Amino acid sequence: MQKHPDFTEFTELTPAAEVRTARHGWRAKCLQRLVRLELPVPRTVALPCETVRAIAAGQMPDTQAIAAIFGEEFLVSVRSSPENPEWGGPGTVLNVGMNDAVHARLTASHGAEAADALYLGFVQNYATHVARLDPDMFAAPPGPRALERALETYQDEMDEPFPQDPAKQLAQVLRSMARAWEGTTARLLRQAKGAPIEAVLGLVVQEMALGIGPGLSGSGTMQFVDGVTGAPQITGRFRGQSQGRKRAIETLYLTRDPRGASLEEASPEVFDELKRYGAACREKLREEMQIEFAVEDGQVSIIDAVRVVRSARAAVRIAVALAEDEIISREDALLRVEPRALSELLHYQVDPRAPRDVLARGIAASPGAAAGKIVFTAAAAQAAAARDERCILVRRETAPEDIRGMHAAVAVLTERGGMTSHAAVIARGLGLPCIVGCSEIQINFRDRSFTGPQGRVFREGDIVTLDGTNGEVLVGSAEMLEPALDDGFRTLLHWADNVRDIGIRANADTPDDARTAQMFEADGIGLCRTEHMFFDEDRLTVMREMIFADTANDRRVALERLLPMQRDDFTALFDIMAGQPVCIRLFDPPLHEFLPHEREGMRELAEALDRPLSEVTRRVEALSEFNPMLGMRGVRLGVTVPEIYDMQARAIFEATIEASKRGAPVVPEIMIPLVSAQREVEIVKTRIDAVAVAVKNEQKAEFTYRLGVMVETPRAALRAGEIAEHAAFLSFGTNDLTQMTYGLSRDDAGRFMNTYVNQGVYSEDPFHILDVEGVGELLLMGAGRGRAARPDVTISVCGEHGGNPESIAFCRAAGFDYVSCSPFRVPVARLSAAHFAL
Ligand code: PEP
Ligand code: MG
Repeated sequence: MQKHPDFTEFTELTPAAEVRTARHGWRAKCLQRLVRLELPVPRTVALPCETVRAIAAGQMPDTQAIAAIFGEEFLVSVRSSPENPEWGGPGTVLNVGMNDAVHARLTASHGAEAADALYLGFVQNYATHVARLDPDMFAAPPGPRALERALETYQDEMDEPFPQDPAKQLAQVLRSMARAWEGTTARLLRQAKGAPIEAVLGLVVQEMALGIGPGLSGSGTMQFVDGVTGAPQITGRFRGQSQGRKRAIETLYLTRDPRGASLEEASPEVFDELKRYGAACREKLREEMQIEFAVEDGQVSIIDAVRVVRSARAAVRIAVALAEDEIISREDALLRVEPRALSELLHYQVDPRAPRDVLARGIAASPGAAAGKIVFTAAAAQAAAARDERCILVRRETAPEDIRGMHAAVAVLTERGGMTSHAAVIARGLGLPCIVGCSEIQINFRDRSFTGPQGRVFREGDIVTLDGTNGEVLVGSAEMLEPALDDGFRTLLHWADNVRDIGIRANADTPDDARTAQMFEADGIGLCRTEHMFFDEDRLTVMREMIFADTANDRRVALERLLPMQRDDFTALFDIMAGQPVCIRLFDPPLHEFLPHEREGMRELAEALDRPLSEVTRRVEALSEFNPMLGMRGVRLGVTVPEIYDMQARAIFEATIEASKRGAPVVPEIMIPLVSAQREVEIVKTRIDAVAVAVKNEQKAEFTYRLGVMVETPRAALRAGEIAEHAAFLSFGTNDLTQMTYGLSRDDAGRFMNTYVNQGVYSEDPFHILDVEGVGELLLMGAGRGRAARPDVTISVCGEHGGNPESIAFCRAAGFDYVSCSPFRVPVARLSAAHFAL
């Protein structure tokens, strides 16, 4: 019969006892399972959360009755048992019940040294944690008179002798632990780990297994997988005495080891018994557990078992192994891996066990870690790469002309910028670790140095490590862990693909990106930003000639030189993607981004074009705009300088024919950027259709293609119905759409984003996590209007939000067909999408 009359009940753990995590906490539940598995768990009593709460409020359970369970003289431990182990809880108190009588008995059976040490430890613990006396007074190291002095100090301070009644000791320990849980610091700490305000604590009282005795005795922990790699491996420690050597307390290796004595050799029986218990835990608790055990004269007790603490890579390997051994289902395995943690596997990481000397912090814009010499210009980065030196490019912010330098660097650090600044977007695409908005450093270009907090100066050539996973710049070269794209990782993601119901494509601009997209098994390319193809040295000059052309004819000549280059680009992408969809966005940025900004660059350009410097300077000025992001870019260029799109369409179609001859038929997708009016689409579509007809006629070949529109202005979202009449697909460019919906520059917002988020103006950086209320409403409206006009229209997101789990959840709920994100975010997106479908 269940009784809760005074909220001070308790339960002895027997196979029949009813114990629930929500009521008794995770530890009690776990111990209860071990008891049911018939593991040798010492006698244990669980106090449910309502009892502990009553204790904190001054209402004690019958501690005499609890004490009676353990006999007249006893030693017990008291441990916390919150609902979730992450929430912490007051530390364990060991050897409750220790008094003069037990001490005398232990002295007789185990010797004075062992008995003194146990009593002293308890007095110190009790005095500081229960009686709240100053720890310094009890900090004396063990010694011949240490116990006596501790007992005297206690009596002096408390005006009473150290309590001898075990039931009274137990009552005091329970009270102090119950109250500690209610303390403000403890509350704040657990809430930071996600505990709800009303989180409660259970307590577990367990008979001590002391691990001392004449034969093989000791205590330790054992786990059966490596916490960093997840590979099967017995690790842990055993502190005890090897057989035959009297009283020599030492740490033994668990398994045979050439460096010294091991438990496996000291007692193969004990070792095998522990292995059996470990296997039973794994199978029945459906988890890799670390067991805490004691051995007394060859007798094993299992005191506790906790989930093995693990890195992300170990989490993947453990989950897959459990599912492959049919201990858990594949769905469970998927749910056991936190999607975001996967990105840890794709890159080098700073070894979490290594020391870190943090020099500055910024926004973690692209994950992974790399160490290298500091350089301050793209040219210096390229020079370093040519010398095979690893370098970290440090800029105030990056511009398109820094791209080659970014390719040459192993990581990028910028003083300014936010999550969608140029540096952040490009670095994520390249899989380079990147920190942006690192306003704690001040760059001094003249000296080629930067100054960090506390005036620490770092010069060109100094080595730093950039940890793009958590936004920290570290001094020197930190210890690293390698990426882990092993079989477990692939297997888990294949299981994810079987359950997810939204496509995941990659944003890929170059053959290298496309290969990365293939390696991470994206469902195709959702955005190829073609302008990134024009920054190679040989192309940039031709591109500039095209921009400087005075007449349509001059322009055509330059474009004819660019045509074969673009055709090769697209053929390579189609070949690599082997028949999967490839969505190519026509040229988007303002032309002046391709022109030099500094005098030296202008001089070089004047030389290359054989024009006077003054003319070059004038043209560059004429092309500059007050607000280029809202100026002559995207489809506006397509309408006013249509030859550029003509050339790109021709290159796409010729590449389609060529790649289809060799491999799977290609159906290219062509996307028009920055549209705000239906008529823009009509004008561009008419010309592209004409190019298609011309290419088909010239080459006597057939192909089909899909023409779509990028929805990245609020007006395009509002007018999506009429736009969809001419578009086979609508892809939301949520970077620009966020910029224009908020009227917030994506390149400058980094300066005040922290303040805005800290003051709760925005709950999150909207360039990072999709603003579902505002921008999201435009997405829903656009998708709804587009679909109403054209039910088979394909809807997707290709802005940076596409790789963000919360945003994927939104797109999935809205019934979008796919999201597209940087290749290195594809694995996270595949697993998140599976989580949402489960
Ligand atoms: C966008 O605006 O969301 C987008 C994908 O295009 P870009 O980032 O190249 O402007
Ligand atoms: Mg855009």
